[in-house]
Amino acid sequence: MNITGRTVQLGVIGNPIEHSISPQLHNTMIEKTGVDYTYSAFRVREGEVGKALEGMRALNIRGFNVTIPHKITAHDLCDEVDPFAHKMGACNTLVNTDGVIKGYNTDGPGFVRSLYHKGVDIKGKRVIVIGAGGAAQGVAMALAEENCESIGIINRTRDKAEALARKINRYYPKRAFVAEKIENADILVNSTSVGMNTSLSPVDSLTGLNENAVVCDVVYCPRETALLKMAREAGFKTVGGIGMLINQAVIAFELFTNTKVGEDVIDYLYRMTELESSIVLTGFMGTGKTTIGKRLCALTGAQFIDTDALIEEREGMSIPEIFEKKGEGYFRDVESEVLKSLAGYKGAVISTGGGAVIRRENIDALKNGGGVVFCLKADIDRVFKNIGENTTSRPLLNGKTKEEAEALLNSRREAYKNCHFEIDVTAFEKEKAADKILELYMGRD
Ligand code: NAP
Repeated sequence: MNITGRTVQLGVIGNPIEHSISPQLHNTMIEKTGVDYTYSAFRVREGEVGKALEGMRALNIRGFNVTIPHKITAHDLCDEVDPFAHKMGACNTLVNTDGVIKGYNTDGPGFVRSLYHKGVDIKGKRVIVIGAGGAAQGVAMALAEENCESIGIINRTRDKAEALARKINRYYPKRAFVAEKIENADILVNSTSVGMNTSLSPVDSLTGLNENAVVCDVVYCPRETALLKMAREAGFKTVGGIGMLINQAVIAFELFTNTKVGEDVIDYLYRMTELESSIVLTGFMGTGKTTIGKRLCALTGAQFIDTDALIEEREGMSIPEIFEKKGEGYFRDVESEVLKSLAGYKGAVISTGGGAVIRRENIDALKNGGGVVFCLKADIDRVFKNIGENTTSRPLLNGKTKEEAEALLNSRREAYKNCHFEIDVTAFEKEKAADKILELYMGRD
């Protein structure tokens, strides 16, 4: 990216903002479409949105995306509001034209585009939306705008479902109602947070959905939620929440830059974030699997899974305690079970313990499940530099000399060759290593 005096600034404002993947999505679109823009993240505290908008005018920043908790304030403070965003009472996109800031809302339209992207028709369809919060409102209003036949709202707190149905009917008369069941729906959308980083589903069964129904989730961590898995297994078409995230960004980008984003670029964003195949990081202790894994999650919006943490949770004790009380053999058996349970998992960066490769079947299971396995390599000096003097949390290094540790590292070299890629991180900054892994992941066959 070549930033010059003419480069136009874009960004996202919110609090917290560090984990936003908007910079990655927008900078990828900037790179792929070749426009002269750059996109950053700005943490803006509650009560300071007005100042941020002043700054936007003063610095001639062309566009902001707005995320939690500022969408309603942004709507109230901008100079002009697009009619759809006005119905929502919330803006996630602000465009500055010569000091006049106009607010838009691309969340719901992003959801709609994600359905079209997967070949789903909306006009004339009966929709059930589960949830009545901000995401549900965006989804329901945008579906109404696309002339779906009806929208039934189901929500844990009934009052909120009633309020949302009333609001929709104010703009789209007689379209929405409070529903009790999912029966006869053509499109079912989970717009609650149920399923986020858990294996819970907002419904126990999909019985009663119409034959060719489509089941959607706005939750995107994991990429295939328990609801979507149940739907896929029952033979329904599914649409995951990552498509909404991508398409709200695409629509915002088109508003910022007046540049159409081609299908090839959109497909690239899907491949980058969908992680149909999980990224698996393995390698010796101290090679940076956790740091690099978390950086990869920031780049892709994926879920971070640390298999050692899963083992500790399952056993109710720390890894050193498991080694001490039950022995390494027991630990390796549990580790194998945990790794095999993750085979086929989508939308995750999975960081394994350093010894996961010892049993070939572990890595084979992850590979057979579609995982792309990267082995991080580093020389023993870098390993010791990374883990520092304190080796007590690493039972196999505790009390070892550097030579003994190097012998252990060398004894695993052959096993590491079973991975798809080996990355030497000895001389790499961890951020660069994550970029390199993503590049290899995207460029693989
Ligand atoms: P919100 O305004 O706080 O609303 C949360 C909704 O979830 C409410 O309907 C709430 O019901 C329901 N809910 C929460 N916990 C529940 C539980 N244990 N059982 C049943 N219902 C429960 O949040 P939001 O902004 O709408 O976000 C909801 C989800 O959408 C989040 O996971 C968010 O990450 C996701 N999202 C995705 C995108 C995307 O681009 N894919 C965009 C926006 C949001 P009550 O009314 O009864 O509390």
